[in-house]
Order: sequence, then C-alpha cells, then structure tokens
Amino acid sequence: MATIETRRISKRFDGHAAVDAIDLAVREGEFLVLVGPSGCGKTTLLRMVAGLEAPSSGDVLIGGRVVTQVPPRARNIAMVFQSYALYPHLSVGRNIGFPLRAAGMRRAEAQTRIERAAQMFGIGHLLARKPRQLSGGERQRVALARAVVREPLAFLLDEPLSNLDAKLRTLARDELQQFQRRLGTTTIYVTHDQVEAMGLGERIAVLEAGTVHQIGTPAQVYDDPRDAFVATFIGSPPMNLIRTDAAFVGVRPEHLLPRTAFAADERTEAYPLVVHRVENLGADRYVYGTLQPPHPQVHVIARLPSLLPFATADGERHEFAVRARDLRRFALADGRRLEAAA
Ligand code: ATP
Repeated sequence: MATIETRRISKRFDGHAAVDAIDLAVREGEFLVLVGPSGCGKTTLLRMVAGLEAPSSGDVLIGGRVVTQVPPRARNIAMVFQSYALYPHLSVGRNIGFPLRAAGMRRAEAQTRIERAAQMFGIGHLLARKPRQLSGGERQRVALARAVVREPLAFLLDEPLSNLDAKLRTLARDELQQFQRRLGTTTIYVTHDQVEAMGLGERIAVLEAGTVHQIGTPAQVYDDPRDAFVATFIGSPPMNLIRTDAAFVGVRPEHLLPRTAFAADERTEAYPLVVHRVENLGADRYVYGTLQPPHPQVHVIARLPSLLPFATADGERHEFAVRARDLRRFALADGRRLEAAA
C-alpha cells in the first residue's frame, strides 16, 4: 500500500478544463471516494492517477514518488471499471491470472495466487467457467480478484457496482469494504451516487466542474458542508434551501419537525407549513409543504420518523420548527458557508 497524491493536476479537452488544478492526498490504506454529478471530472482524475490519461499540467505521486511520466503498467496499481472488462473467451481462472501471465510469472506460482484471490472473493468453485456463465455479482468479484492478484499498491475503482441491482449493490458494498479493510490497500473509488459515497468512504471528496468543493469524513460533509453545492448534493431528500434577504438558510428534512416534537425549553425557530402531501416510506414519512410568513412561500420537504405522531389533511397549516443549531447559512452571492464550521 502507498499514499497517492495529486498536485495541482489539470486536464483540458479543447480548452475546457475537465479537471482544474486538483490537490488530493490519499493516506496509506485509506478508502477515499470521489463523488459528484455526471461530467464533473471524476473519471478523468482517476485515469490520470492510473496513467491512462496524461495531465495537461500538475503531477501524480504514488508512495511519495512522482510518477507523472511513468506508464500505467509500471505504477503497480489496479483499476476496476464499471464494465469489468473481462475477457469473454477466457475462463474465470485465466481472467484472474491474466495480469500475472502478462508479467511473465511462472505457472505454478501464478496458480497459487489465482486460487488465493479466488478464495478471498468466494469464487474458488467458478474458476473453470466463462464470464457469460456468471451473474453480475460474480463477474464483479472476478474483476476484483483480478485486481488483487498482482498485490498492487492501490486500487482505483470506477463505479464498479453500477451494473448490479439495488439489493446486490448494498451487499457488494459491504463486501467490498470488508475486503479493502482486510487487505489495507489504498483505494480511490468513483461514484455519482452520494448514498454509496456516504456508505463506503472513510473520506469523501465532493467534485463539481473539475474542482473539489470539500474533502472530509461522511459526517463532516453532511453536518458541516462548506458550501451550498455540497449541502444540497449530499443527502436525500436534499437539504431545503430557503432564500432570505441576507443569505440562504439550509434546513435538512429530518430537522424540520412539528413543534410538538421538541422539548418546550428547546431553542427553536418557527417554520409554519401548509402541508400538501404525505408520503409514507415505512420507517419515515416525507411531508411536502409550503413555508408560511415570515418565511418566503417556498416548497420544502420534512422527514418525520413514522413513530412520531402526525396527522394532517390536505392544505392544513401546521406549526413546524427547527433547532437553532441545526440551521445552516450560505452566502447569496456564491453559496459559501457563512457560520464557522463546528
Ligand atoms: P460520469 O459520472 O458521467 O462518468 P465524470 O465525472 O466521470 O462523469 P469525466 O468522464 O471525467 O466526468 O468527464 C469530465 C468532462 O471532460 C466532461 O465534460 C467530458 O465530456 C469531458 N471529457 C472526458 N473525456 C474526454 C475526451 N477524451 N475528450 C473530450 N472531452 C472529454
């Protein structure tokens, strides 16, 4: 395992900066997730770390060594793509062993390593099959086994779970995290899915338009977003942003609750609401409504635990409130956070 750094790394395509002077420092053994909307530059950044894309400027360091000019093969890092890119005509065993054969490893040693990697991912019984005879989840494990077989310094994973259905994806996420912890291999993981980012990352880097808005633990980016972009990108349903004269006020749906849900002596601010619709999701209910004066009449979403008593008819007014300390404020002009982070 090794540290991975980028120093003011940029990539321009036809004059447009897909990645714009990004500084990243991934610690040894860390699981860092790059998350952001489509086109924000995640894949381009990962490909530059892998050596598959040459930066327009800036450097990549692996284990403290500048590798910007080093070809991908010599960087000793393994990349797993969304498509897995398995060879259809080769058996699972030969797919996993491919990087070893390519490196000229002796057959007996390669076989030991292949079996060990397959065992690790619970696919030891599938070595003779062809990729088309596998489920999506099994193919994903073959791709991961092929990535670990070389014992690389780092893993670069580009949306490796996006071909799996929702249920399998949750399981695969858990599995992936366990393998990564067991191996202790430095990992950069790309996704556009903020739920996946929150669930997997030790730290998350939130990207937009080729720049990093914030790097922090899931709790930091969720509770202390540095700007309105991070505040609304992370979290589902997104944070409500309410425009006032001086600033945007941000309220997470789970913080907007009927006043009766708070203790009488709790410091809250009133957010009266006319309720239009309630969506029951089992453990939670989403309450859709319009804020009332003194607030601007904008649509907001409140998220209430189902255990909390709440009944309404369409168009009814309710006294909702938010704890003063749960309010976030952002500058009108550029969305930057106004109060100091905790
Ligand atoms: P997604 O989640 O959709 O995969 P991403 O965040 O990974 O998106 P990139 O694939 O890194 O985004 O692309 C960043 C920007 O660079 C996009 O505007 C894209 O159109 C552009 N881009 C990427 N590769 C090339 C290329 N080879 N030539 C020209 N433009 C490119």
